Amino acid sequence: MLAREHPDAVRASKGGTARAAAMDAEYEVQREAILAMLERERRSLTASLFGLAILLCAIALMGMPQLHVIAICLRACSFLFTRWAATDLERVYRERGDTVWPRRILFIAMCLTGATLGLMALPPPETALVASGLMIYAAVLMILTLIAVTLAALPGPRDGMLASFLLTLAVLAFFYPDGQNPTILAIGAMAVIGIRVYSANTGHHIIASAEILVENRELSDELSEALAHAEFLSWRDPLTGLFNRRKLFEEREHDPQNGSARHVLAIDLDHFKGINDRHGHATGDRVLVASADVIRARLRAFGADHLPAFRHGGEEFIVILDGCDCAEARRFAEALREDIASIDVGIDGAGRETVTASIGLARWHPDETLDDVLQRSDLACYQAKGEGRNRVSAVA
Ligand code: GH3
Ligand code: MG
Ligand code: MG
Repeated sequence: MLAREHPDAVRASKGGTARAAAMDAEYEVQREAILAMLERERRSLTASLFGLAILLCAIALMGMPQLHVIAICLRACSFLFTRWAATDLERVYRERGDTVWPRRILFIAMCLTGATLGLMALPPPETALVASGLMIYAAVLMILTLIAVTLAALPGPRDGMLASFLLTLAVLAFFYPDGQNPTILAIGAMAVIGIRVYSANTGHHIIASAEILVENRELSDELSEALAHAEFLSWRDPLTGLFNRRKLFEEREHDPQNGSARHVLAIDLDHFKGINDRHGHATGDRVLVASADVIRARLRAFGADHLPAFRHGGEEFIVILDGCDCAEARRFAEALREDIASIDVGIDGAGRETVTASIGLARWHPDETLDDVLQRSDLACYQAKGEGRNRVSAVA
């Protein structure tokens, strides 16, 4: 029981190799960065739709040339594909799953995004207004910047998009050498380089913030663990894991009387010194732990909250029963006495040995202090010893 509750034991069971821990930390940083980024991506949905709307207006101004219409349809498809891939990646990160494939799929989606944005540079029809061409370039650069900055902490997909955009521009320049304005293409290419540099810086910034966040979270976990450990040490008996005397007085001395009947049990193991003498101190300790275990189990069976059991001294325990009448308290005490009597101490010269307990039961009166009721339950316990031990003696 003690090992199960002790924070050190919990920490030891959580242990892994330093390498695994470092990989975990790296995954957590990535997770934080990418979740924050995908959250921003979702919020920038309106801006993306606005970009698409500008492209559509510009193509409408050109008189809906067929190639441009196909290109914008492809653009809309890749937009939906990217949204789906990003949502899937977010889901996998939230569930702390394996992200290899969702990241690959997002990379492909982003490459398609770059290519479909590049296709927007298809040469406009000769009759088209200059303004419509410029509108397309402006919208494309706006969308590229938006995506590259939003997904700055995913360098692979981001660079995949920018590279496929440039490649598509190059392919278009090759196939339509007369339809392109070289100055505008050069400006577009330079803008892409600027976007790449800017978004790389943003990416570093996002990762650094995620590192701080993960570090703070780890520190806060360690702090909570240390606090739990401190609480354990200050309130618990380290051998049995039961509450200690200090907790008994801190918690129960000024316990408000809520009108329900309460009883105090003083439990003292019989001839415990003899067990130590015959079997050794380690066996004595084991018997104390086993006694604490049966007290806890009996309280659980009784339906008690917070297991109000305390190690009062060497082989003495206190149990406080709330909200039961005298007959119920008596039945509880008798059952506990039998539980303790079934603890197997070990074998000595006379055969298998068990341990017994004398239990003093006192009703805690509403106007009575904790000291007073403890004294009365102690007196009842002495009475049980005097009557031959291994019995329950009650005082009103
Ligand atoms: P009685 O039936 O009258 O209660 O006799 P007893 O032997 O149980 O009582 P006594 O007060 O003479 O002895 C209590 C013994 O409990 C003495 C002490 O060595 C032992 N003890 C106290 N704390 C511990 C502990 O943490 N571990 C072990 N193994 N023994 C302890
Ligand atoms: Mg004693
Ligand atoms: Mg004793």
